[in-house]
Amino acid sequence: MKYVIIGFGVAAIGAIEAIRSVDQTGEITLISNDPHGYYSRPGLAYYLTGELHDKALFPRTVEDLRRLKFKAIRGQVTKISRKNQTIEIEGTAPLMYDRLLIATGAQAVHLKVPGADLEGVLKLDHMEDAKLILKYARRGKTAVVSGGGITALELVEALIARGMKVHYLLRGDRYWSNVLDEHESKIVEHSLQEEGVKLHYHSELVEVTGKNGQVHGVRLQDGQVLKCDMVAYAIGIRPRMELAKQAGLAVDRGILVNEYLQTDDPNIYAAGDVAQVYDPSTGTAIIDSLWAPARQQGYSAGLNMAGGKSPYTKSVPFNVTRLAGLTTTIIGTVGHGKDEDLVGIARGDSETWRQLPDALVAQSGFEVNNLRLVVGEKTLLGAIVMGDQKLSFPLEKIITGNMDISPIREKLLSPNAKVGDIVADFWTRHQTTAASN
Ligand SMILES: Cc1cc2nc3c(=O)[nH]c(=O)nc-3n(C[C@H](O)[C@H](O)[C@H](O)COP(=O)(O)OP(=O)(O)OC[C@H]3O[C@@H](n4cnc5c(N)ncnc54)[C@H](O)[C@@H]3O)c2cc1C
Repeated sequence: MKYVIIGFGVAAIGAIEAIRSVDQTGEITLISNDPHGYYSRPGLAYYLTGELHDKALFPRTVEDLRRLKFKAIRGQVTKISRKNQTIEIEGTAPLMYDRLLIATGAQAVHLKVPGADLEGVLKLDHMEDAKLILKYARRGKTAVVSGGGITALELVEALIARGMKVHYLLRGDRYWSNVLDEHESKIVEHSLQEEGVKLHYHSELVEVTGKNGQVHGVRLQDGQVLKCDMVAYAIGIRPRMELAKQAGLAVDRGILVNEYLQTDDPNIYAAGDVAQVYDPSTGTAIIDSLWAPARQQGYSAGLNMAGGKSPYTKSVPFNVTRLAGLTTTIIGTVGHGKDEDLVGIARGDSETWRQLPDALVAQSGFEVNNLRLVVGEKTLLGAIVMGDQKLSFPLEKIITGNMDISPIREKLLSPNAKVGDIVADFWTRHQTTAASN
């Protein structure tokens, strides 16, 4: 069996591991155009702030990879020929496949305003982008950052850590309004202001101005002009579907695959940020754009490419991130797309969560702790834990395990409820009962 994988991200690694778990002899060839191979893209933010050395971004050693017995080719795949079951790699002969996996990921949406091609206008997508940002980040100089999500915030924090003055442009009246509520946005904004970031609300960048080919400033929609030496942006990502489109595979917002990660061509699979995966339990097809689902999808695809029948089941979303210095865990449904089951919101604000036996204590001594629970009829639908993380682990278990919270539901929703304590008590009681059974 000849397996060919396009891409060398976490979906590709998941697929190779799965194939090797059932097929030790099949030939696996992987092609990637990234000169750095497999590294942690989420880790790029910590590399930029200086907290991680670039060597720490490589989760696998050369020996780890060698054990998986695959051939890696560096190159740009330019075409898939379904009729001949081959792919074309720039500058080499066509390569044959029996099973093909497209794991080409997503890439940053490019800024499209006059001046966007000037030197010093930067995005954060790959290792090369991160290196370029570090090359331009100069202590005492000024940067403008545009974009409303996590990556833009990571850029702001990185540039502050590198000693730059930062103007942060927000389109609306608060930070990340489709996920955070007003209170949570304010916590992030306040923390940024404390670090000296100048926030510009209702601001849209309409032009980057230059001098001698280099960034010199930006012009905003309201006519305001800001002088700066760098513009960094993170305004969204787009699945890299060009190869799939050219090959005539079914695509929508991503490459359409069934629950087995198979496209409408039975010999071609897609996984990770490029795939729009059908979820039979909800009847919808979604793109996750997150590290852990990309890995899981790659793994399922690999098993199926090797002859298995292993459906990918989407797990409850779970993401640990850092927002303006505050460790933040986001579990389940927390944003606008509210569940039909939603009964109410319970909030714990500036409480100090009680110590729990199996608590995850990544950091302690936060000045701000914030907890929001999305409460359903019988279960918790989602949670955001900002700051102290002691409740993250119990909440993950309560939410992903669909635990019946009827005994505490009313208490949680009562005014001035000590939400953290109620959850902690509930969890301790559950642990005690489980231990005695
Ligand atoms: C700055 C940043 C921060 C992030 N932070 C988080 C986070 O905190 N939490 C989280 O869960 N996720 C985070 N993500 C998202 C996460 O990194 C992705 O979901 C994950 O990397 C997707 O993996 P993938 O294997 O699908 O694609 P990728 O990792 O994008 O890999 C795609 C591969 O395909 C190759 N390729 C593409 N086209 C071709 C071609 N034509 N020919 C040859 N090779 C090709 C690329 O070079 C690359 O090797 C972050 C991403 C970025 C960029």
